[in-house]
Amino acid sequence: MLITLNGIVVGERVIGENSCFLDIFTDKLGIVEVMAHGVKKIGGKNSGAASLFSYSKFCLKKSGSKYTINSSEPICSFYDICKSIEGLSLASYFAEIIRYCATSEEDHTELLRFVCMTYYHLQKGKLSLQFIKAVFEFRFITHIGFMPDLRACKECICYDSDEMYFLPDEGALYCSDCYEECRGDIGEANAFLLNPTVLHTLRYVAYSDIEKLYRFSVSEQNERIFSAIAEFYLLTQLGRGFKTLDYYKNISFNL
Ligand SMILES: [Zn+2]
Repeated sequence: MLITLNGIVVGERVIGENSCFLDIFTDKLGIVEVMAHGVKKIGGKNSGAASLFSYSKFCLKKSGSKYTINSSEPICSFYDICKSIEGLSLASYFAEIIRYCATSEEDHTELLRFVCMTYYHLQKGKLSLQFIKAVFEFRFITHIGFMPDLRACKECICYDSDEMYFLPDEGALYCSDCYEECRGDIGEANAFLLNPTVLHTLRYVAYSDIEKLYRFSVSEQNERIFSAIAEFYLLTQLGRGFKTLDYYKNISFNL
């Protein structure tokens, strides 16, 4: 049976001299593991479309539960990400998140569009990596079902105050008064103090249309707070760490 999908290559394992197993994040089936014969051969039939971080149209042959590339057509390559070690390590971290989370066989068209936009900005190099990382983490995790309630204080429904607290474990907001009152029950761990700009940023990234996600900026200081929250929220909700994240941090720290 042949099936046509759009997808981006987010992982590869070389088999023998010229072939690969690819992890392709597809619009219709989520992550699919695909055998790609001869793609490592120079000038191989599918080598452009099947290279890491290429977004392509794939015609796959399915036999049993296994997929093989029948033909492919490159749409857009983000291979230039690999020119910077920091960019590559961040792209690899995103790829590991996608491989771990996007496994369900459902329509992922929106998420795939967001992933391609993210890789586009990584390749373009105009936005800071910290900003791209935070937007990706926070939007990705909210998109796959871990949407925090950022509408108002969980206790008194206050929408805005100069100081609000975000609790990643609960995915909830508290105004400072309610936070003080509930502190005994909540405990002091893992609460982020938000100024109005950071709260607006979280709401914007969680609730805006995908097209708007990279079209805003925040000050360096607020970007740092947003970045800490985004990473903490994603790791808390998934309940695990990522080796590629450790590697990225190691690289960034030493550059
Ligand atoms: Zn309140």
